[in-house]
Amino acid sequence: MISRDVLVEACDKELQAERFKDYTVNGLQVAGADRVARVMSGVTASQALLDEAVAWQADLLLVHHGYFWKNEPVAITGMKRRRLATLLAHDINLLAYHLPLDAHPTLGNNAQLAHRLGFEFERSIDGELGSGLLWLGACPGGTKTNELAILVNEKLGRKPMVIDGHDGLIERVAWCTGGAQDMIAAAADAGAQAFISGEISERTTHQAREMGISYIAAGHHATERYGVQALGAWLAERFDIEHRFVDIDNPA
Ligand SMILES: [Zn+2]
Repeated sequence: MISRDVLVEACDKELQAERFKDYTVNGLQVAGADRVARVMSGVTASQALLDEAVAWQADLLLVHHGYFWKNEPVAITGMKRRRLATLLAHDINLLAYHLPLDAHPTLGNNAQLAHRLGFEFERSIDGELGSGLLWLGACPGGTKTNELAILVNEKLGRKPMVIDGHDGLIERVAWCTGGAQDMIAAAADAGAQAFISGEISERTTHQAREMGISYIAAGHHATERYGVQALGAWLAERFDIEHRFVDIDNPA
């Protein structure tokens, strides 16, 4: 068991949460119990994940997608009320990190995805390592688009949607987890022959074909499962807490 404030401060510091301009609050979003013994992690603080946290008697829920997004209705009604009521009734802390958890050099979603897929990091295209979100690296040995898609399918356990925009060998790949399909132009400009992100828009198909870059939509949820798990494991190594990751299936 550990003090909630000590745990939150350690995460804030490790992820350099205050450095990011974000669409939501990074850090403690809803305060619950002062002491924490059980940390449950998950991608999104959906009702299904909250119910799992209640059943496991978690003291803290650690997520990538929390609440209080810019432009969301502020009134606490309906779905939002039910979610907050669940947290408050069971004294569960909600700790959320969005962009800081995408960008972290080792624990972040991009770093963890690269690790899973065996990419060798070269540089971050849109900022220095630690704040940049679009990463570039080598596919060891080079590969064709269809082989890369098979690798993604195998490693993430989800069939990706593939736009085969590049005919030849893929030696350099760019990636950004989540809903980053519009970074495809920056990825192509930086010399990548393939770009991997989570979601796809109608326009992404044409961009890929016309810019000669293959696009792999590997799933917003599927690409962002690994950062919170790494952060939860990092916490369990340092503090006297139990950590458990719960995957709430999401095909998007
Ligand atoms: Zn996301």
